[in-house]
Amino acid sequence: ALTIAIVGLPNVGKSTLFNALTKNSVLAANYPFATIEPNVGIVNLPDPRLAALAELFHSERILPAPVSFVDIAGIVKGASVGEGLGNKFLANIREADAIAQVIRGFDDPDVVHVDGKVDAASDMETINTELMLADLQTLEKAEARYEKEFRAKKITQATMDTVKAAIAWLGQGKPLSASTLDLAPIRELGLLTSKPFIYVFNVDEAVLTDADGRAALAALVAPAHAVFLDAKLESELIDLDPDDAAELLASTGQEESGLDQLARIGFDTLGLQTYLTAGPKETRAWTIGKGWKAPQAAGVIHSDFEKGFIKAEVISFDDLIATGSIAEARAHGKARIEGKEYVMQDGDVVEFRFNN
Ligand code: GDP
Repeated sequence: ALTIAIVGLPNVGKSTLFNALTKNSVLAANYPFATIEPNVGIVNLPDPRLAALAELFHSERILPAPVSFVDIAGIVKGASVGEGLGNKFLANIREADAIAQVIRGFDDPDVVHVDGKVDAASDMETINTELMLADLQTLEKAEARYEKEFRAKKITQATMDTVKAAIAWLGQGKPLSASTLDLAPIRELGLLTSKPFIYVFNVDEAVLTDADGRAALAALVAPAHAVFLDAKLESELIDLDPDDAAELLASTGQEESGLDQLARIGFDTLGLQTYLTAGPKETRAWTIGKGWKAPQAAGVIHSDFEKGFIKAEVISFDDLIATGSIAEARAHGKARIEGKEYVMQDGDVVEFRFNN
């Protein structure tokens, strides 16, 4: 599943947010990939289409697309030179698809700020600097190894050039994501600042309901996405039944919980979408990249589906709901038989035919 690592300074509300995420995982625990690790929290990508399909097909269960969040220890100034960014920390965050940086926007005299004041811009700079320094260290360590491999003709000049260019870029104090370098040859290094970032502002109600205040913070991180949430409120929402939760959210001027926003923006940031399968057993959303063709999409269900792909019967969600059943959709020419070159669309309801 899509994995997002949570980073931030100490005392910004990471644990509070993560607590909401893990409580949420218990609710989401009907997952086939069962064992949920203690430092992983899951949010389902909100998708109202699933309930509509499940009703049509009388599905026993609904499996939305999951997004997992990994909790990472707090980062402080100088962490990259000391013990702060240990190997375990790095391993967890390197494997993540994206990084969610939690920034403190709430003011509370009872909660000490590590740098003495609540200042989003300076907090972001501290974290981003540490992540850039961590990447520099990774690259400098790897450089010697790559040199050896280059002399042994195990890697190409292009790979060597990429390592040096990345070091030079970071030396200017800019994250790798801002460069046009093709980092594919050194993907194995899992460089942190090459990953997409999402900024999560942990704010109180005053900011949640202040559009100008939010816009000012969002401008700090643009073009990256900003999510505004109240971590404390999020953990309270989890304990409420859906109607009460919706009411509490509305009273703070929000239409969607922060956790739902995080899942949605995670998908957006990574250029992902879903297609749907539906039947009496389950209605399910499957995560794919935008632009994927049918066989690759089938491979997400099972590698045999990709290898033995013959064709796919595709009905758009809207057509299926409008016609009311697969049989009716077929009768009205809304069920298309698509081949290997078909580019999947968000919300396609699909049945694959394959050889095994
Ligand atoms: P972490 O060190 O980043 O994991 O931060 P924690 O989640 O442990 O939060 C640090 C302290 O801030 C705790 O006492 C939380 O209760 C408090 N806190 C977290 N989020 C909020 C918030 O939105 N508003 C207020 N007032 N306090 C918060």
